[in-house]
Amino acid sequence: MRIVLVGPPGAGKGTQAQYLAKNLSIPHISTGDLFRANISQGTPLGQKAQEYMKAGQLVPDEVTIGMAKDRLDQPDAAEGFLLDGFPRNLNQAEVLDRLLEGDSRKIDAVLDLEIPEDEVVKRIAGRRTCRTDSSHTFHVVYSPPKAEGVCDVCGGELYQREDDSEDTVRNRLEVYHRETEPIIDYYKVQGLVVTIPALGKVAEVTQRAMEALRQKTT
Ligand SMILES: [Zn+2]
Repeated sequence: MRIVLVGPPGAGKGTQAQYLAKNLSIPHISTGDLFRANISQGTPLGQKAQEYMKAGQLVPDEVTIGMAKDRLDQPDAAEGFLLDGFPRNLNQAEVLDRLLEGDSRKIDAVLDLEIPEDEVVKRIAGRRTCRTDSSHTFHVVYSPPKAEGVCDVCGGELYQREDDSEDTVRNRLEVYHRETEPIIDYYKVQGLVVTIPALGKVAEVTQRAMEALRQKTT
């Protein structure tokens, strides 16, 4: 099964992607992982991406698309994959369709994780990160530390990352509306979109998504 996962920042896309890929026994291909892998292996595309990032510029579509193409050509993606963070705009979606068509493949479903905007802001702006170890994360409402401002794991100081501030979140939402939402309409025309409410427990959302995919593809 070939799936594209879309949804605004804060919808829990990365977490759902991991569970869904595992349940469906297909590789989870995230843009973040593609970039990390290409950069750490020093591939030509990775080097190009790094140059743009160092200059504080957006990485052009052709670089991202090149990385995705290399990954989709790997043997483990032959029978299916779950894309997370790619395509992120209309141009990438169109090129992806052409690439797949060339191999007589096509997207089977587009899972759209839906979440109210206010909830996104609440989720992200409530995150707190440990200064000592950034993998120690908390949330002021959903998983508060035992003592305010102090990491349960190591006693480090908790702070709000710049990325998680309300302004940054609102900004990222705007970019999502402008850049990424048009791909949902593009895929709707092809009858591929399944919309899933992303509120609730992680396991519940996964179950909802699995059920919707089953209905969509049988
Ligand atoms: Zn800590």
